Amino acid sequence: MLLNYPCNNHTVSLDYGHDATNDPLISDFYKVFDNKHPGVDFDLLEGTDVLASFDGIVVRCENHKGMGNTIGIRNGNILALYAHLSEILVKLGEKVKAGSLIGKSGNTGTATTSPHLHFELRDLRFKELKEMVFKPEFEKEIQNYKFTFNYKVNNTSSKKNLVKLATLYFGNPDYKFKIKDENKLKFNTKDELPQDLEVIIPNYWNPIILRI
Ligand SMILES: [Zn+2]
Repeated sequence: MLLNYPCNNHTVSLDYGHDATNDPLISDFYKVFDNKHPGVDFDLLEGTDVLASFDGIVVRCENHKGMGNTIGIRNGNILALYAHLSEILVKLGEKVKAGSLIGKSGNTGTATTSPHLHFELRDLRFKELKEMVFKPEFEKEIQNYKFTFNYKVNNTSSKKNLVKLATLYFGNPDYKFKIKDENKLKFNTKDELPQDLEVIIPNYWNPIILRI
């Protein structure tokens, strides 16, 4: 899967992994990532077009305290976050194509000092946030892309059922049956799933099966 630029300006203003430990202006922003910048920034005037970097399904549309108006788009195990937006132009569960307009850049949230787009990639096979993030390499294939991935049920913070997993990974509870079928599970969609059960998270589209 190719990673496209999320905006027409290709100049990265703050690189992935920038160590903010000694940067008083931004040192508080990335504590959970050991003070390292977990994505890349593009300085954009407020209201600039933000484009989908790859085909995917919208799994997050929210006003996050630090990241402000944020969109999350998933394909397989890869989640892209687009943060500090002034406007969100997509809906949860919507399928978007690479290059399509998804929002407008801005300066929302507490972890920003001037209008910019914070673009972040996460590999959902990992558990901890700081293990999930990786460096975006634009106009290249995403090397760690997998069509599906396994999620190990963790009920410690919140109880997981098929409805919750569908909302988390598809932005839409209706996908509960897709997860149920893929895993041949007998649980009802609202039953709490057993701790540590391994669940395959299917993709939002089905691969073409060639019959010979
Ligand atoms: Zn950033």
